[in-house]
Amino acid sequence: MSAVNDELMEVQDKGKNIKVDQSNQLDKSSLLNQTNDEDKELDGFAGFGFSEGLINTLSKKGYKEPTPIQKAAIPELMLGRDLLGQAQTGTGKTAAFALPLLERIDAKERHPQVLVLTPTRELAMQVAESFKAYSEGHPNINILAVYGGSDFRSQLYSLKKGVEIIVGTPGRVMDHIRQGTLVQEALQCLVLDEADEMLRMGFIDDIEWILEQLPDERQMVFFSATMPNEIRRLSKRFLKDPAEITIKSKKKEAQLIKQRYITIQNSYKLEVLKRVLELSFGEGVIIFARTKAITIKLAESLEAAKHNVAVLNGDVPQNLRERTVERLRQGGIDVLVATDVAARGLDVERIGLVINYDMPFDSEAYIHRIGRTGRAGRNGEAILFISPRERSYLSNLERAVGQAIEKMEIPTNEIINKHRIEKIKKDLLATASSETKNTTESTMLQEVIKQVEDELELTPQEIALAAINLSIGENSLLIDNDEGWINQAERFRKGNDRRDSRGRNRREHGITDKDKERFRVEVGHRDRVKPGNIVGAIANESGLNGRMIGRIQIFDNYSLIDLPKGMPPNIFKNLKRVKVMNKELNINHYS
Ligand code: AMP
Repeated sequence: MSAVNDELMEVQDKGKNIKVDQSNQLDKSSLLNQTNDEDKELDGFAGFGFSEGLINTLSKKGYKEPTPIQKAAIPELMLGRDLLGQAQTGTGKTAAFALPLLERIDAKERHPQVLVLTPTRELAMQVAESFKAYSEGHPNINILAVYGGSDFRSQLYSLKKGVEIIVGTPGRVMDHIRQGTLVQEALQCLVLDEADEMLRMGFIDDIEWILEQLPDERQMVFFSATMPNEIRRLSKRFLKDPAEITIKSKKKEAQLIKQRYITIQNSYKLEVLKRVLELSFGEGVIIFARTKAITIKLAESLEAAKHNVAVLNGDVPQNLRERTVERLRQGGIDVLVATDVAARGLDVERIGLVINYDMPFDSEAYIHRIGRTGRAGRNGEAILFISPRERSYLSNLERAVGQAIEKMEIPTNEIINKHRIEKIKKDLLATASSETKNTTESTMLQEVIKQVEDELELTPQEIALAAINLSIGENSLLIDNDEGWINQAERFRKGNDRRDSRGRNRREHGITDKDKERFRVEVGHRDRVKPGNIVGAIANESGLNGRMIGRIQIFDNYSLIDLPKGMPPNIFKNLKRVKVMNKELNINHYS
């Protein structure tokens, strides 16, 4: 199965008109022509001129066809050419550079020949793992990942023993070069992976320093999801006559993911999260939160709600991170609560749903987040929680992904209960039809059923019911939580939208006298409050458009404010606790 949908990708090979090294007996067009020839043997990866060992490894991994970036990049890299590639994770770009570089390594020379720089430790490990997986047919090639947070001494030991391929983060690679433990003089190839991300993380000077240390005669490959000026500048300075390849897949890839949003006030986010999670069992879920503190708060709440959950944030030590990702991959964890940085490059196939609990920083971050699902050609879903005030950002995201992000309703008790019953049915069917229970045990249990039937004079149906109740445990199967807030919030917002559109042309506030009610809040001049502070806080918590907030009069100890009639009690209750200038509003009706 291809990791990407080939038809949805557009390959621009700007390098086509650039001369290929003529001293080499094979040029790119002849390689490509061979693949198109009637010779079926040369289909797929065989057309690149790979060794038999590598072809076998790829076929064992189930790779049938090269992805577009591989088709375009591999022939160039096999020829030793420099390359500037624009492609995201998920396009198969790791194999695009790893396969040809592996083939060009001289395993008899026990010194570093290939250096790959990545922005994060996670990506360094992942890329090193890919190299290891692809090098099965090259038993003498040693690969080492070097990154901060891992044991320096064991890295030194491996470096001394001799490695051919090093994958590392810039800081740690610099340390090794400075100490002379990574001898860069004989390096033949350097790959800069996710160059724009390195720039964003502030590594640009380190990278430039590392590039300056390399020998003059070497191959250099840059991969970047976007092409900011700084990366262009670096490529002009360091790449020699590079092949340029652009895979325009970002939007198209995002389009394979079903994307929806839920408008929700901050105070109900956690409740909505639990409801959404109920409806998604089976596959892995990643929840993105803005801060480390929020990841922890969420994980604790979800654990209490009996989810298999783990946290991935910058405070989690490296070895635990590795274990966490592995457990997620194996199904030991179903829900991962992560910050953006910690989850960069995460590639776990079974992620079926990404929840943007907090709004992403920008559309790049959104695309990266949702790209954690829909891996390796699978379907994926993404849900975005937005507060009423953040609604205006939605169109930016829609533009970035090139499709509409659909509205999703908050799952009601009825929907959740239906789902729970369906699940019980499914579980019963699965258990009844499975043959895993050993027969002696089953015979004994049948005996128990018979005894219960006789002793208590119960029908088989009554016994089955008791057994189901036993498996459900103490809590009741169905929920009956107050859900008035779902409808109230919706009604209030709709009323607000209607009033808003009626009053769109008015220069004054959007509410008329008869639509409004006056409230008192307990902040005033002595707290140095300004009208904007009050408007901001109320709009944020209530979901009201700022224009719907009427006149504000500020007095010494308190302020009066006009708001649309019909505020739902739950919003009213939440507003009481909202703090402005570090004081609770403690809002009340004012007559
Ligand atoms: P990457 O873009 O390097 O992060 O790769 C994305 C995923 O696609 C990884 O899980 C790879 O193992 C997988 N992959 C890469 N190339 C191929 C291919 N030609 N066929 C099938 N899967 C692939």
